[in-house]
Amino acid sequence: MEVFKIYKKLEKHLNDRENVGFVPTMGALHRGHLSLIKRSLADNPQTVVSIFVNPTQFDDAADLQRYPRTLAKDLELLQTLGAKLWVYTPEAADLYGESLAVGEYDFGALTKTMEGRSRHQHFEGVATVVEKLLRKVGPTKAYFGEKDFQQVRVIETLVAQKNLQTQIIRCPIVREANGLAMSSRNALLTTEERAQAGLLYQTLQAAKTKFKTQSIDQIHQWVQDVFNKNPQFTLDYFSICDETHLQEIKNPIGGIPRGFIAAKLGNIRLIDNLSF
Ligand code: AMP
Repeated sequence: MEVFKIYKKLEKHLNDRENVGFVPTMGALHRGHLSLIKRSLADNPQTVVSIFVNPTQFDDAADLQRYPRTLAKDLELLQTLGAKLWVYTPEAADLYGESLAVGEYDFGALTKTMEGRSRHQHFEGVATVVEKLLRKVGPTKAYFGEKDFQQVRVIETLVAQKNLQTQIIRCPIVREANGLAMSSRNALLTTEERAQAGLLYQTLQAAKTKFKTQSIDQIHQWVQDVFNKNPQFTLDYFSICDETHLQEIKNPIGGIPRGFIAAKLGNIRLIDNLSF
């Protein structure tokens, strides 16, 4: 394993005749990240992992400030994989130059719902950094978690729009024993909150069962009732969308359905999703 802060130095080590797998992350690594990295290591002779907390995808300065940064621990964890890994840990200037400019993108309706609606310019920031990284690293395959399902769809659309020669590989969500989707932000929860936070997944599972027999309106009402009974959470949205366009499904026959949920527990925003 070797660590590089400057992309130009890493570039010299990449063998351009061999496939490159790429796993972009914001660090505070957990088993979810490791599952993507292991998949890349299995698929490709060379794997690049980036660790960079991308400021342009945060619309809340406090959220950016408290985002966990644990680089020394992350590198120790990656070392335990005992694999040939290139780790890219840039400062913002190595990716963005002098100003943190966000690119212009048009993802249409895809970014008008859910995370796109709740977080101003979030996906423009994500697309900007991912486009920069994909153009630099030029990977054969790049690995993204379904934990951020809308993000995966945005990246797939970005790659198609910009004609980038990288295959996007979707990886399944890795969860804690109580169903809580692993996330760097979980480190900010207390032990008690972590136990309570399984509610998001439990709600999605129950909603999936109800989806077989109940109307969409009934399910929405039921989810609202669950969160009314658990006032330590603030529900941001619950949505049943088709997997491709991420638009709300009005009747259960249209499109491949997936349930999405976002809620705050205390100050910490949690998201999850489940195929219905
Ligand atoms: P992040 O560091 O949160 O930006 O995540 C980096 C990548 O890891 C993204 O593609 C995420 O979707 C993915 N990821 C994060 N948490 C999980 C998880 N629990 N299971 C699978 N993938 C995940």
